[in-house]
Parts: sequence; structure tokens; C-alpha cells
Amino acid sequence: MTAPVVIIGTGLAGYNLAREFRKLDGETPLLLITADDGRSYSKPMLSTGFAKQKDADGLSMAEPGAMAEQLKAEVRTHTRISGIDPGHKRVWIGEEAVAYRDLILAWGAETVRVPVDGDAGEAIFPINDLEDYARFRAAATGKQRVLILGAGLIGCEFANDLSSGGYQVDLVAPCEQVMPTLLHPAAALAVQTGLEGLGVRFHLGPVLTRLQRVTDGLEAHLSDGSVIACDLVVSAVGLRPRIDLAAAAGLAVNRGVVVDRTLSTSHANIYALGDCAEVDGLNLLYVMPLMSCARALAQTLAGNPTTVSYGPMPITVKTPACPLVVSPPPRGYEGQWQVEGEGADLKVLCHDADGKLLGYVLTGTAVMEKLALNRQLPALMA
Ligand SMILES: Cc1cc2nc3c(=O)[nH]c(=O)nc-3n(C[C@H](O)[C@H](O)[C@H](O)COP(=O)(O)OP(=O)(O)OC[C@H]3O[C@@H](n4cnc5c(N)ncnc54)[C@H](O)[C@@H]3O)c2cc1C
Repeated sequence: MTAPVVIIGTGLAGYNLAREFRKLDGETPLLLITADDGRSYSKPMLSTGFAKQKDADGLSMAEPGAMAEQLKAEVRTHTRISGIDPGHKRVWIGEEAVAYRDLILAWGAETVRVPVDGDAGEAIFPINDLEDYARFRAAATGKQRVLILGAGLIGCEFANDLSSGGYQVDLVAPCEQVMPTLLHPAAALAVQTGLEGLGVRFHLGPVLTRLQRVTDGLEAHLSDGSVIACDLVVSAVGLRPRIDLAAAAGLAVNRGVVVDRTLSTSHANIYALGDCAEVDGLNLLYVMPLMSCARALAQTLAGNPTTVSYGPMPITVKTPACPLVVSPPPRGYEGQWQVEGEGADLKVLCHDADGKLLGYVLTGTAVMEKLALNRQLPALMA
């Protein structure tokens, strides 16, 4: 019997690759293995659920059984891969060996955890999949005060969503502005002001050092000596691509699992895409890049070796309190930033010395200009 194409992970990368592959090949056995419950969902929706009043079941789009049928595949849920044996073309699930024809790593990134003193560590919730979200929603029921750790894209989106859902939100982060790696300071201020308008209280600079239970909830002690009363904590301090099992199997890793533009790792018949993959030096933790990778890799797996390319990939940040679209300049490009507009409505453009547009940040009403600007942007990976 032919060994199956084996995909590890049923997030957007795993399921979209399976879907693209089935458009080209309806016969080759396909096996998807996932550590979670295998439900199909759109991860970006996790930071919109409170405003839309959707629990985890409401965000789920399909059960694993329905996905298996749709994809003409076997889907093994709550099954964690514990090792890869590239020499014998098999993966390990504990003591069980599973053979593959081709192996695809679509196992995502894990949340970074920061050590915090005190007796309330279990009140800190990372939210990186549907099961995390279900746990957090259950814990948040009947509570009112949420402390968010992290002022990146995900921390800000949760601040907006939880405020819209009726929670009092405090946000703590050891930086001077929100989304420091993505935003020009003027745009960051516009976003922060928009969120403050919803009632979000920012504590930028300190970190959480101790979380302590008290009679009416929790006390969060910050490194600047201040204390915040809250009921639970969302941790959004960062994501780290999963590379350990790949490294242990001898695959090249860097920030992510290293792949070339055919999504091939350093071992034959093993590929990677999605949050875990570093594609030609780029580890982009967004949906658009993984969709391009899924289309290219499906072709390769179906017998037509294909390389991936990335066009411009603007990111729409889900902070309706201050609409925001960002397109950072491609790596290696240097330019000058210029701010137009004022208040909440800013057009912040980055041009090179020849006047060519390299990137932008748009806030408020200026987001309406994104389509016109997108046409002028360079490709991220031509
Ligand atoms: C709150 C939030 C909001 C976001 N919003 C946006 C947005 O607006 N726009 C955007 O472009 N991007 C957004 N992103 C990022 C985007 O959602 C991710 O880039 C994308 O979903 C990653 O998909 P993935 O399939 O690579 O990883 P994941 O969805 O993390 O899937 C990984 C899979 O691998 C499985 N797995 C892991 N380890 C093992 C193992 N050892 N054995 C078996 N299975 C394993 C997991 O169970 C899971 O099924 C957001 C992310 C978050 C957290």
C-alpha cells in the first residue's frame, strides 16, 4: 500500500494545503494529524469573538469528521507527533510509527510564556487556538476586569474586542508605544487614543512581576510598583515557531523550520508552511503568506514542482476603535517615513530615495486608500 501524504496540523495551513491538494489529486491517501480537536476555524476570528458574542462553538466552522469527508482524508485528533525519522520516512506518535510518502509540517507557533511570581499563575490565559479560547471564555464568564499582557497586534486586538464585549481592560507592556515593530509612532498614538476612547487603560513601560489572589479577585503587581486589580489575565506577549522536533530530527532550523521557495526543508520529502516555516528567510505569522504557500506546495505534491512568491501583503488589524492597515517595507529596503493627516486619520508612507512607495501605515478614514496604494507596493518576495 502507498504511504500517505501526512500533514501535521489542522490550522489554516494544514487544512488549506489539504484543500488545495485535493483540487489536483483526489486519489493519493491523505492523513492529517493534530494535537488539538481538529475543528476547522479561522484563527483571526479569535480576537473578534466577544464583540460578536461568539463562543468557541460559534467560531467553529466544521467538525473533524466533516473535514475528513470533504477532504477524502483521515483526520487523527488529539494526537501529538513526538518525533520524525527522516531516514525511514516515518513519524512517531509515542511508540507508534506512521509511514509517509511526503511529510508536511504545519504545526504552527506556540505562545511565549513569561515567568510571574505569586499564587495565581493559572489565571493567565494565552489564546492561540480554539481550545484556549474556550477555556478563556469559560473563565471570563461573570467576570469584569481583564488585564492584557502585550501591546502587539494581538494584545491590541483583544483590548478592542474585550472592551467592546463589556470588560474593563488594562494593558501592560514593556514598550513605549503600541505595536512597536509594526507602527510609526504617530500611528501608534492614533491607535492607542482610539482604544483609550473605549476605556482601555495603558501601562506602557513596566512588566507584570507578581500575580496574587485577594478576596475579590487578583492583584497584578508591576515592576514600577503600581498594582492593578483584575479578575483574569490574557497573555499576548509573543509567538515562537515550533522548531524543536524538526531540530531533533536534524532538519535545518533558524527562527522557524528553514525551507526554500518550494517549501522543502533540508530533508527530502519533508516540507513546512504556515507559522512554523521560515520561507527563504521570511517567517511571516499571517494568513496571506500561508495561503500562497499552500497553493504552491499543493502543486509540488501533485507532481508539478512550484516555487512560491509573495506579492504585497498588507495586514488589516482588527481594532475598529481606530481602523488600521499596515504594509511594512520588504526586508532589506530602507526608506524615509512621512506623516500626512492628523488625529485619528493618518497616512504614513515610506518612500525610497527615488520616490518609490515601499510601505505604509493607514489609520482611521485613510484606510480607504489602501487599494490604490497596494498597486504601487513592491512584492515581499518576487
Ligand atoms: C488572536 C489572533 C488573531 C490573528 N489575526 C490575524 C489577522 O487578522 N490576519 C492575519 O493574517 N493573521 C492573523 N493571525 C495569525 C494567523 O491566524 C496565523 O498566522 C495562522 O492561523 C497560523 O496557522 P497555522 O496553521 O500555521 O498554525 P496553527 O493554527 O497554530 O495550527 C497548528 C496546528 O498544529 C498542531 N500541532 C502542533 N504541534 C503538534 C504536534 N507535535 N503534533 C501534532 N499536531 C501538532 C496544532 O494542534 C494545530 O492543529 C492571528 C493570530 C491570532 C492568535
